[in-house]
Amino acid sequence: MEHYDVVIVGSGHGGAQAAIALRQNGHEGSILMVSRDRNPPYERPPLSKEYLAGDKPFERIQIRPEQFWADKDVELRLGRNVNEVDPIAHELGLSDDTRVTYRKLIWAAGGDARRLSCPGCDLGGIHYIRSRRDVDALKEELGSGGKRAVIIGAGYIGLEAAAVLRKLDCQVTVVEMLDRVLARVAGPDLSDFYAAYHREQGVDLRLSTGVETIEGEGGRVTGVLTDSGETIACDIVIAGIGIVSSVGPLIAAGAAGSNGVDVDSYCRTTLDDIYAIGDCAAHANPYADNKVIRLESVQNANDMATCAAKAIMGDKQDYDAVPWFWSNQYDLRLQTVGLSIGHDETVLRGDPAERKFSVIYLREGRVLALDCVNNTKDYVQGRKLVMDRAEIDPDLLADASVPLKEMR
Ligand code: FAD
Repeated sequence: MEHYDVVIVGSGHGGAQAAIALRQNGHEGSILMVSRDRNPPYERPPLSKEYLAGDKPFERIQIRPEQFWADKDVELRLGRNVNEVDPIAHELGLSDDTRVTYRKLIWAAGGDARRLSCPGCDLGGIHYIRSRRDVDALKEELGSGGKRAVIIGAGYIGLEAAAVLRKLDCQVTVVEMLDRVLARVAGPDLSDFYAAYHREQGVDLRLSTGVETIEGEGGRVTGVLTDSGETIACDIVIAGIGIVSSVGPLIAAGAAGSNGVDVDSYCRTTLDDIYAIGDCAAHANPYADNKVIRLESVQNANDMATCAAKAIMGDKQDYDAVPWFWSNQYDLRLQTVGLSIGHDETVLRGDPAERKFSVIYLREGRVLALDCVNNTKDYVQGRKLVMDRAEIDPDLLADASVPLKEMR
């Protein structure tokens, strides 16, 4: 049985950055990266943006050129699932029936797209957007465009896909169960702006609408029956309804966790020598009042990877990185810093009609987070306000003629 000093499970943002950070921090031992994905590490955000639109080829979304991994002596075993973790023997069982042992394990397995469970959910023509393979299959069906698509879920991925499909001249209906878009991640001001903008771009947006059944014929989808009794005819369905974190083998091995796997401030799980990072890691986040949450962002995956790699190298530093995120839809670039969870007040800064504005989230008068639309200056300057939990008069915050950096 082969032994590795560090085994990394997953080749997404977290896994890739963990290997990079280990080498950057002087790790000289062997590193094995095992991943279910068949491709060398690539970025996921472009999957619902430039890669789906056909504006960037796969080579341009790779996290590093393929040769990099060999040059850094990081062994990749792709197209293999890790099915079993034996935390006592420090041993893993892979789907190709091989076993490997590790000194340290970094679990960076992210999550799988949550599947639809309604009648008709197995029909052909239903798509998810999580991996390159998903998007290649979707692109093939979209062909030269002009299709009728129903997108289920108005979170970031659903809305980004809607924007790309409109560009491809598809007829797009977005069906969202809640009464506003981006409800899980943003305040009502931002939701209203994005809903109006998508409608302006020709998206038929149905809020407060659930899906009853996916209808089909000959094994392929023909429409979506909503809970208002209407069938929306379509050729393609895309579901963007969140993820289920990929932690089964770790939980089966005894790691604490429920929605993800629990980690401490050094990204250690409750099992000896096993770390978990990225989308699957439930942690107490200082920017969420130390509530235990999972963050699904490139920032979080990268920063946790560095935190775990440093801890393995003996340089333990608490994970306290400022959360940030972005989303591109049409000509709108949204940049978010901080977490708006638990806000009790919002301040609108700038004019949404000009498509350049920010929403600032406060709690008890202190700045928690900013959502900045086409407003990189506020995003950059607001970061310090978030880090300091600055207490600033809301009327001053709302005055877009005063730069945020002058408000500290
Ligand atoms: P992942 O990137 O999901 O990687 C997990 C890896 O583990 C995968 O390679 C998977 O195949 C593998 N794996 C899973 N289980 C096993 C197993 N048992 N054995 C072996 N391998 C396994 N974030 C932003 O900040 N901005 C954006 O604009 C943005 N857009 C996004 C758009 C899309 C379409 C998607 C899907 C995500 C987007 N995100 C965005 C989120 C961001 O990509 C994720 O937060 C990030 O990829 C998480 O990294 P990760 O390493 O934790 O997990």
